[in-house]
Amino acid sequence: MRLRNIKGSREVIGSNRFVVQNPEEQHGKWKEVFGNQNPVQIEIGMGKGRFITELAIRNPEINYIGIEKYSSVLLRALEKREEVEVENLLFIRMDAEDIGSVFDEGEVDKIYLNFSDPWPKDRHAKRRLTSKEFFKRYDKILKKDGRVEFKTDNRPLFDFSLEEVVNAGWILEKHTFDLHNDVEMSEGNVMTEYEEKFSSIGNPINKLIAYR
Ligand code: SAM
Repeated sequence: MRLRNIKGSREVIGSNRFVVQNPEEQHGKWKEVFGNQNPVQIEIGMGKGRFITELAIRNPEINYIGIEKYSSVLLRALEKREEVEVENLLFIRMDAEDIGSVFDEGEVDKIYLNFSDPWPKDRHAKRRLTSKEFFKRYDKILKKDGRVEFKTDNRPLFDFSLEEVVNAGWILEKHTFDLHNDVEMSEGNVMTEYEEKFSSIGNPINKLIAYR
């Protein structure tokens, strides 16, 4: 998702209390940032933020960090964030390629990837957030037994991701090619903006959960 560049979005984000500035300075200190010992879960490529905001409302005992590359998109998430009274939700504007500089080893309890950009050209495969190169990054920051959860309606990207889980040496815990009709895996499902859009036109939603 790349919204039209919104004038002033960088300035708004640069001074907003819910956006962590210079996040690499908090490396290893995220529990201190939240001021408690609760688990830290992150969504990479959160877009307009509906999913992670809803999770933060439902689970006050978990700390959430939404990560988004583009200021203009993050601005939309901030608008939602300003409307809710929760203390467990922060945002970072960054490219997830540098995720290892922001989180220490084992500092993250769960990683959510929702409707990640497909990068359909083979030569761009390394940019997919479910490539083995990204799993290597997740390997470092995720705690032992932590999970990656990935949803998409894009079947070629999902098939690629199933293979990359194995190529990266991870274990596929569960998967479905039709989340909304899978009683077990859809329990408590929180829809993202893209999920709502694509399921409303009849696209089945795929989901996998992986660990190592
Ligand atoms: N997760 C949302 C949803 O399901 O509605 C948004 C999906 S949108 C297709 C993918 C989002 O991931 C975009 O907002 C894009 O800017 C962001 N993104 C893509 N690559 C990223 C990266 N390397 N680091 C951070 N964000 C990224």
